Amino acid sequence: MIYFDNCATTKPDPAVLSTYTKINEEFYFNAASPHKMGLETNQLQEEARSQIRTILKLDHQSIIFTSGATESNNMALTGMARAKKAFGSTIITTKLEHPSVLETLRTLEQEGFVVKYVKFKEDGTMDMDHFAELLSNDVILVSVMHVNNVMGAILPISEIAERLKDYPKIHFHVDCVQSFGKMPLVIEGVDSFSLSGHKFGGLKGQGILVISQLRNITQTIFGGGQEYGYRSGTSNVAVNVTMSKAMRLASENMDMQRARLYQFKQDIENFVKQFPGIRLNSHPNGAPHIVNFSFVGIKGEVIVNAFSERGIMISTTSACSSKRAKLNETLTALHVPEDAITGSVRVSFSKDNTVEEIAGFKAAFKEIYSQVEELLKK
Ligand code: PMP
Repeated sequence: MIYFDNCATTKPDPAVLSTYTKINEEFYFNAASPHKMGLETNQLQEEARSQIRTILKLDHQSIIFTSGATESNNMALTGMARAKKAFGSTIITTKLEHPSVLETLRTLEQEGFVVKYVKFKEDGTMDMDHFAELLSNDVILVSVMHVNNVMGAILPISEIAERLKDYPKIHFHVDCVQSFGKMPLVIEGVDSFSLSGHKFGGLKGQGILVISQLRNITQTIFGGGQEYGYRSGTSNVAVNVTMSKAMRLASENMDMQRARLYQFKQDIENFVKQFPGIRLNSHPNGAPHIVNFSFVGIKGEVIVNAFSERGIMISTTSACSSKRAKLNETLTALHVPEDAITGSVRVSFSKDNTVEEIAGFKAAFKEIYSQVEELLKK
């Protein structure tokens, strides 16, 4: 089996799995218990938090352990919008965001907030002039992802942060799920960001929210007061400790890994674009681990199945958004033509992939192409 759907999830690192088991066996205690074992369990978790702080080179920010980026995004956006209601009601985002951002903002619209979407230019870059036009004294929140999970587009986080310097009231949230471990994070001028462990060799149900003004956000989960009172519920210490482990492993040799992933990406992009009827959607300067292309005129699902039958796992869209509409929104916002949208597929790599697998993909591609060639719009 060749696994090229690493944007959906990655294989957990064996070291993460063994640490997870060890902690569950030896430190299964409640981190809030007052006895010796509870205190030791708590200490383990706090050490993990401080390691994450070091890995991310954080300064004053707080780290909240969550069940993943969906929860982190929900918590940051809802908590911050509600906290800032007195100052304004406009939120700026993009059509490229993950449903955990877009659906949260849709819910906030029902509470009276107004959501505005920044446009993208024909070349797929964010229209910073349009962004500047949307900025006003009524804006309280800007939420933009670092790397898009469908196309691999890299959004201009530093540039946005720079523009926001003139608006100190605005909270800037970044979804860093697809960038961590693949490229350096941009955190200067960012007020909060989300990570998800299972996207870089960690576990499902494992994430963090990093936030600079924790005390200013409205609580959204109530209970026993864990995670500084912002995320109640008995701490999942084994999950939280292995988050730090997965982050450390993903950060080690990141530059080397990134270069390797870029090579895979360039190799596949240069290969597929030679074939008439194939449209390359991802940008050569996009994220190193994501390739998106279309079999123009053929449904993406048919292509995914054809690869799947040959033991190669790729994807039509983000697995968490079975709704085709979300994919259409992202690709439409990035000016991909309609017949190419339907036929688009995503190939995404991790550090576990090999050159031999790339060769296997190319051989399968040739076979599939020759079978469907007649049907392609060239
Ligand atoms: N944001 C992005 C960009 C994602 O790709 C994903 C996962 N598909 C999420 C958020 C949600 O992460 P999780 O699965 O950890 O909730």
